[in-house]
Amino acid sequence: MKVMDIFETMEYGPAPEAATPALNWLKEHQPFGLFINNQWVKPASGQYLESINPATGKPLAQVAAANDADVDAAVAAGRVAFETWGKTPGHVRARYLYAIARHIQKHSRLLAVLESLDNGKSIRETRDLDIPLVARHFYYHAGWAQLMASELPGYEPVGVVGQIIPWNFPLLMLAWKIAPALAMGNTVVLKPARYTSLTALKFAEIMQEIGLPAGVVNILTGEASHVGEVLVRHPDVNKIAFTGSTDVGRSIRRATAGSGKKLSLELGGKSPFIVFDDADLDSVVEGVVDAIWFNQGQVCCAGSRLLVQENIADTLISKLRTRMEKLRLGEPLDKAVDMGAIVSPGQLKEISRLVSQGVAEGAEMWQPSWACPTEGYFFPPTLFTNVSPATTIAQVEIFGPVLVSMTFRTPAEAVALANNTRYGLAASVWSENINLALDVAPKLKAGSVWINCTNLFDASSGFGGYRESGFGREGGKEGLYEYVHPSWETSSTRHTSANHDGHVEAQSVTPSPALDSEFDTADTSLDSTEDVTDTVAEASNGYVPTFPPIDRTPKLFVKGKQVRPDSGYSRDVYNPQGQVIGQVGEGNRKDIRNAVEAAHAAGGWATNTTHNRAQILYYIAENLAIREGEFARKIVQQTGCLHTDAMIEVETTISRLFSYAAWADKYEGSIHRPPLRGVTLAMKEAIGVIGIACPNEHPLLGFISLVAPAIAMGNTVVVIPSETSPLSATDCYQVFETSDLPDGVVNIVTGERDPLSQVLADHDDVEAVWYFGSAEGSKNVEFASAGNMKRTWVNYGHTRDWLDTVQGEGEEFLREATQVKNIWVPYGE
Ligand code: NDP
Repeated sequence: MKVMDIFETMEYGPAPEAATPALNWLKEHQPFGLFINNQWVKPASGQYLESINPATGKPLAQVAAANDADVDAAVAAGRVAFETWGKTPGHVRARYLYAIARHIQKHSRLLAVLESLDNGKSIRETRDLDIPLVARHFYYHAGWAQLMASELPGYEPVGVVGQIIPWNFPLLMLAWKIAPALAMGNTVVLKPARYTSLTALKFAEIMQEIGLPAGVVNILTGEASHVGEVLVRHPDVNKIAFTGSTDVGRSIRRATAGSGKKLSLELGGKSPFIVFDDADLDSVVEGVVDAIWFNQGQVCCAGSRLLVQENIADTLISKLRTRMEKLRLGEPLDKAVDMGAIVSPGQLKEISRLVSQGVAEGAEMWQPSWACPTEGYFFPPTLFTNVSPATTIAQVEIFGPVLVSMTFRTPAEAVALANNTRYGLAASVWSENINLALDVAPKLKAGSVWINCTNLFDASSGFGGYRESGFGREGGKEGLYEYVHPSWETSSTRHTSANHDGHVEAQSVTPSPALDSEFDTADTSLDSTEDVTDTVAEASNGYVPTFPPIDRTPKLFVKGKQVRPDSGYSRDVYNPQGQVIGQVGEGNRKDIRNAVEAAHAAGGWATNTTHNRAQILYYIAENLAIREGEFARKIVQQTGCLHTDAMIEVETTISRLFSYAAWADKYEGSIHRPPLRGVTLAMKEAIGVIGIACPNEHPLLGFISLVAPAIAMGNTVVVIPSETSPLSATDCYQVFETSDLPDGVVNIVTGERDPLSQVLADHDDVEAVWYFGSAEGSKNVEFASAGNMKRTWVNYGHTRDWLDTVQGEGEEFLREATQVKNIWVPYGE
């Protein structure tokens, strides 16, 4: 071919990267051991697995197959190391993290080539994206290690962390897991994916190189059934961090239920790529290439659903086909290649199966005219049109280079279509009208929203899902909280709550003398006829009528109305002496369903101004204060506590309402400056409908301490009040009714806590459940929550001191009530 011809065709020539240094490194280390306690050790099983180059189908290396004995050894090493590492000053940890980042850069080319060989992704991506982001992650977290003491006071590391990562970004996922864990003072046992262990093993060597203390990082290669599952169930692991499929995430949620292990899950997605008719279509085409053909579409946040405004759909599809025809697919080590190989034959088969199913379901498939290499595992870029939103290919994560396209007419329709998925990981919005884009972004149920860009990542901007895409964030300050817990949980003696929780010593608020009661003995009897008749006698010159008190049986509180329980039954409420002091409705499954429906209907609460939400919380406090004596007496009746203590509870409740009224317009997001021309807006959004099961103790304070932060942040709630002492919550009905609280924002269903909590945890339209009851109940809630991967916050049967401002209020509550959405806004002409 002559130079002139090249100018004519504009064809690239091959630009191969040399594999020799990486292949030599592999040869020198054959077979690989396990990395435990900074040593390379032989697997207990004596077994090895083959790692294959997916671009050729040929073996690359032998890696050790760990089993449960190796998991035990690695966790034990992590535990011993934690004793020191957990107490190592932040500055010292920062130095190690900094050294890791520097060494990643020193070995960057070797790592990039190894990653390409092992995973099949193009060298262009590993060299320019994966490895630089790995280094950036360690630099960024070196900073958090340095700042932990000042920026996260009152928090400490969780301990030994089990981390399980997938094959699509092997080293990058390792960095996302290990960097924050180490920065916060934890030790790690990491399991790479079966197909892609090699860069993790090079990383282990770097740990030796920098002299990281033994046992801080342990790496176990092997199969899920012998390593991953064992790690998840290991009793001495304090947290599991997982990235992978939603099905495995669900099984991990169930396996860890009730264990007290912290859990973060980054799962699958079916992310929308929304194109409005005023978008720059040439940029859109390149955006689509990055959204779905980047890493062969094996990306959890791949823009796999193209939603195009109807009037430009034909033009865009035609431009896309032209571009697809020019995509270059082949040898991953060729620097001029756009797409490499699919990771494994199994994955290739699954993609082919789903594509055939799409055709069978009536969608129109288009692929470029060129053929894929016959050696290795390749799949061409594929575009489906004429797709109906309910079909398999529109709903299921294909995890391959397959794009399905659908059309919409209005922005509202675009949002509805975009949110028509069980996932919620990411979304892109393309429009030259920034007003439209910024209006649409908050309406999308997704953890990351990219405006006029896609698949951008940075350590400063947290990443993670809504809905069945999992929970927890990686990156940003929010990601740090996945690796710490409040210090009071270990420093105070935590009690296990009994069924009939006793009185908790008052600590935090001393009532003013004026508030103190004239009587300080526990009077727990029902407002007696004598009390009433005495009062009436005084007012009527000695005439003493004899009549009983007017019966008050609180109903349930749903959609701002007091409604009878569906069951038609009531339950007795007792004082500590076992006397009946009242009745409340016996709520059941149907009442919970109605309450959830009402809470959903009140979803507009999230878009109320924060000022308005603050005003309503102040108003509730004001109306409660008017009746504080009455509320205190009810607490005394139910719990048998001293009147002074009951007054303290009421006063603390009022103070707590003030706290969350204060936070309502102050717990704000932040703006990140990732290394690009643009900003990331980290918005703290409401989660949606939260089911809340209140503790038995402190019937008023426990109830308000949970409801107030939830509604302050824009959530609507379905609350099961204290099972043993529900009358304080039911007395709040009138307070809510007179405080301008919109109907359906707070719904209250009295009854037996655990069966009702179970209904909430099973419910697919509840986005989070907070449970403060028994260890068994906590386990059941966590287990059932796996259905729609709702977020949970449970107490594992431990009590907290609700009167204490550290344990009973504050940022921990606000964090549980919000999820962070990062909206990426590039700027500049
Ligand atoms: P998996 O979720 O099965 O694997 C991810 C990681 O979890 C691997 O390290 C795997 O080990 C491990 N693992 C698997 N089962 C268990 C278990 N029961 N307990 C503990 N650890 C376990 O993903 P696959 O690799 O099988 O891919 C299947 C599908 O998952 C893809 O087609 C895609 O749809 C989705 N996926 C999503 C990812 C994401 O980032 N959201 C990433 C990868 C896949 P091992 O490798 O040994 O099996």
